[in-house]
Amino acid sequence: MQSIINMSAKTQHYLELEEQYGAHNYHPIPVVLTKGEGVFVWDVDGKRYYDFLSGYSAVNQGHCHPVIVKAFIEQSQNLTLTSRAFHSDLLGDYAKYITDYFGYDKVLPMNTGVEAVETAIKLCRKWAYEVKGVDSNKATIIVCEGNFHGRTTGVISFSSDPSSTTNFGPYLPGFEIIPYNDIAALEKALHNKNIAGFLVEPIQGEAGVVVPDKGYLAKARQLCKEANVLFLADEIQTGLCRTGKMLACDHENVRPDILILGKALAGGMMPVSAVLADDEIMLTIKPGEHGSTYGGNPLACKTAMTALQVMKDEKMAENAEAMGLLLRTELSNLHSKHISLIRGKGLLNAIVIQHSNKDAAWDLCLQLKENGLLAKPTHGDKIRFAPPLVISKEQVMECVSIIDRSLHCLD
Ligand code: PLP
Repeated sequence: MQSIINMSAKTQHYLELEEQYGAHNYHPIPVVLTKGEGVFVWDVDGKRYYDFLSGYSAVNQGHCHPVIVKAFIEQSQNLTLTSRAFHSDLLGDYAKYITDYFGYDKVLPMNTGVEAVETAIKLCRKWAYEVKGVDSNKATIIVCEGNFHGRTTGVISFSSDPSSTTNFGPYLPGFEIIPYNDIAALEKALHNKNIAGFLVEPIQGEAGVVVPDKGYLAKARQLCKEANVLFLADEIQTGLCRTGKMLACDHENVRPDILILGKALAGGMMPVSAVLADDEIMLTIKPGEHGSTYGGNPLACKTAMTALQVMKDEKMAENAEAMGLLLRTELSNLHSKHISLIRGKGLLNAIVIQHSNKDAAWDLCLQLKENGLLAKPTHGDKIRFAPPLVISKEQVMECVSIIDRSLHCLD
């Protein structure tokens, strides 16, 4: 399959530079991008592609959204960073804006997604000791098998994926792993009086878009409430209109005690993440106990407010819902013998490839690239289809025809 790849000298040049001077911690599709606009990206040879990954859902609003770019440029010419040693005239505005937007008392701003997850864990532990009354150093957080919450040593400590954990120990204690989408397992785990929280992805993105049964989140939330345990939703990948609602938890009218956001919060411009909670939880952290130099910087505040506003103004949740339905329907109408499963919600979707060749999903992605669509396999046989939420009906139909044509490379 590698032989079907037409690689220009220019592309080769950039790949070699990365290979020689960059750490080998990723295995990208061999395409070198230089420009993005809406649902499209262009490579260094000027070839245009549909982006079906959206920076792992960081560019929900589409590449280089003009309204977000404008706000970003204007703010970057004015004030970008104060640190939290001083106030800025944007942090208060942003805090009010985002707490109104999602309906929480307070926000704690961070940068990357994993930092927000770490923040949520710290908040949950503090709350457990200082409000719930868990014995010192005994707080335990329930997490799910197949989870992906990021890459710090703390967060990988409760990963069940050997490629995330092998030879990175010793691991942080205080977590209990239960099967995902298993209410009985949660009910049992909640019997432990030291349980502080339940940390869950409403849909497991990295695991290959694993959608739990209808009612799972609502039931889990109810059980947590009854056990006086915090319900922590990692909506870093599922949130911000990706699944056809503002939050994936909204599909079941679930309001998390701690809401974790990242990725599209800045429309792909810069790392911006946030943890939202009410006062009883958030005010357990006092000055000096947690923070980040860049967290809540004015550029991030302005960019995030604009990125959130654009999603509402352009009805991106509604479009994700409609286009997701169309995409899944049209994909299943292909009746391809190479697709064993199509799953997803809104525009967070995946197909599972069925083939005797274990590299078939990778090969298909190379063929998709040749035909003008970029996607990446996850966990071997799954391919995520998650375009920017501004995709139109005509574009979805064109993408399905590209996928149809490409699938024949597996015949
Ligand atoms: N949580 C979830 C559900 C994610 O999908 C990701 C990234 O893919 C993260 C956390 C980590 O975010 P970041 O890579 O910005 O640290």
